[in-house]
Amino acid sequence: MTRESFDLSRNESPFGPLPSVAEAVGRATRRISRYPDAGTLTAALTDRLGVPAAHVLVGCGSAALAQDVLGAVGGPDGEVVFAWPSFEAYPHLASRAAMKSIRVPLRDGAHDLTAMAEAITDRTRAVLVCNPNNPTGTVVRRGPLAEFLDAVPSDCPVVLDEAYGEYVRDREVPDGLSFYRDRPNVAVLRTFSKAYGLAGLRVGYLVAHPHLADAVRGFMLPFTVNSLGSAAAVASLEATAELEHRVTLVLGERERIRCALLELGWTVPASEANFLWLPLGERTSAFVAHCARAGAVIGAYPPLGVRVTVGTAEANDAFLRAALSFPDRP
Ligand SMILES: *Cc1c(COP(=O)(O)O)cnc(C)c1O
Repeated sequence: MTRESFDLSRNESPFGPLPSVAEAVGRATRRISRYPDAGTLTAALTDRLGVPAAHVLVGCGSAALAQDVLGAVGGPDGEVVFAWPSFEAYPHLASRAAMKSIRVPLRDGAHDLTAMAEAITDRTRAVLVCNPNNPTGTVVRRGPLAEFLDAVPSDCPVVLDEAYGEYVRDREVPDGLSFYRDRPNVAVLRTFSKAYGLAGLRVGYLVAHPHLADAVRGFMLPFTVNSLGSAAAVASLEATAELEHRVTLVLGERERIRCALLELGWTVPASEANFLWLPLGERTSAFVAHCARAGAVIGAYPPLGVRVTVGTAEANDAFLRAALSFPDRP
């Protein structure tokens, strides 16, 4: 008999799609002989966010949109500045856009905005700020972000990647749109893959001022959001209460895991996302292998640490049992 294994490595929602969203996708299957209509999702976002339609781009996941941003602004000798460790796709997206990655090490587990501002040169074509940061769950708060943006040249695009924004409860963490509104170089990137549970349908969006939005639009392929993804995203925007309920469950489980680990003497930074970061250093690979044998697959960042996605109570229990039986535990 093979034991059940839980995948806690990809920051997915542990629940299936929201019921109302699954129904909308079912209805949309009747129209898949037609080319998708991007206008409906754009209009729904325009309404929901209070931004002009010309500022909204929808794409095949937010990673693809980040790629399109870098493709649109990049060029020979171009550099893109981001924190490290951060979203593991950033270096790949940069190299695909023929840009050099400038990785600015985290300081005390969080973005070192001072060092990031100092890393900006006349070759910098874009800055990525992942808030909350994947894989550490740490955040950039309003005051420091404002100060940072004041230090960035006003013609240098700054993309605020808010893939986990729905999980944030810290009131000092800004909604990126509040910075975009009066700073033409600030863009906000969001996804339906994480809290909304639509990773398999690939839908994300970017909000940016026209000079960047137009450049990205000119670079993108047409029809990058398919009609099922579009229907799912539109329905998701209506499903606020259902989403909220699930987010609350995940946050409750996150704190339960974190408290259990802290009590056992582990170091676990506070997280504002649906995952926890354990800075295990040299013990990283051994711990990942131990958890996998115990039925919990977690994210490995050797030699820095591991990222554990919050799953169902059952999956989280499997992970906690693994942590408890790790021979090299604190
Ligand atoms: C998961 C993730 C994304 C990308 O998600 P898509 O599925 O491409 O929308 C973007 N940014 C961060 C930080 C992520 O963790």
